[in-house]
Amino acid sequence: MRADLHTHSNRSDGTDTPAELVHKAAAVGLAVVGLADHDTYAGWDEAITAGQQCGIHVLPAVEISCRHTGVDVHLLGYGVSPHPELDAALARSREARADRLPLMLDRLSRHGMPLTAEEVLACANSSPSLGRPHVADAMVARGYVADRDEAFRDWLADGGPIFVERYAVDLTTAITLVRAAGGAPVIAHPWARRAARALTRDELAALTERGLRGVEVDHPEHTASTRAELRGLASDLGLLVTGSSDYHGRGKTNNALGCETTDPQVVEALTAPGR
Ligand code: AMP
Ligand code: FE
Ligand code: FE
Ligand code: ZN
Repeated sequence: MRADLHTHSNRSDGTDTPAELVHKAAAVGLAVVGLADHDTYAGWDEAITAGQQCGIHVLPAVEISCRHTGVDVHLLGYGVSPHPELDAALARSREARADRLPLMLDRLSRHGMPLTAEEVLACANSSPSLGRPHVADAMVARGYVADRDEAFRDWLADGGPIFVERYAVDLTTAITLVRAAGGAPVIAHPWARRAARALTRDELAALTERGLRGVEVDHPEHTASTRAELRGLASDLGLLVTGSSDYHGRGKTNNALGCETTDPQVVEALTAPGR
């Protein structure tokens, strides 16, 4: 049984509709696919319906943009049910995503790359969760950059010329809220390039005491040595270990569906009642 538990549809910054994504997941032989759009559940219904049609289990999830000691950390919430406080935090994040757009457009214009909000919103399609990748797509459409990678590398990355900081929920709070919503909190790509070593062993231990259930170890942005070290740490702390592609359709090049997978026993632990 192959399970890829972390993917994105065009309800956030992926490029496939939820139904397309689920059909592709079935076509590459996955038995379980987790849909974890950024700060929104908007793709769940369509994905679950598609999963019923093509005989693949869809695990509803969300990837929450969090902040921890000043650093951005992504938290996956597996199997959460709508919950007033969690939903309010996600709504606040989505608002902050939209609110920063005029500031980004202002900076783009000052760097000789004028764009309108309409152009960015057209790239965001029906996504309620506006992301930097949508700004990147609008820059590509205008010919300012060749692709999302170049847009991030030269302009949009954290601390880059077009970067605008925004609200993000505190990581420990988010862990508590995911648990309150009946879900299993798992830190996404904890030691990926962009967040390299932001979370120390001691911090992960403290977060485990606050309810963290797992860490995403097998992720395309983790090197072999990072994986080995994280796996050892997870074992010491009693954390579940997941593996996932972080698929974004055409939005990311190194993240094919099913390129990383999660052990069936871990999938069971994450989907069991009382997880
Ligand atoms: P935001 O959610 O608006 O803060 O934007 C962060 C998103 O940008 C994350 O989901 C990443 O997947 C995506 N991202 C970061 N760097 C790149 C890159 N070089 N190419 C494509 N997407 C990226
Ligand atoms: Fe993304
Ligand atoms: Fe992420
Ligand atoms: Zn992701």
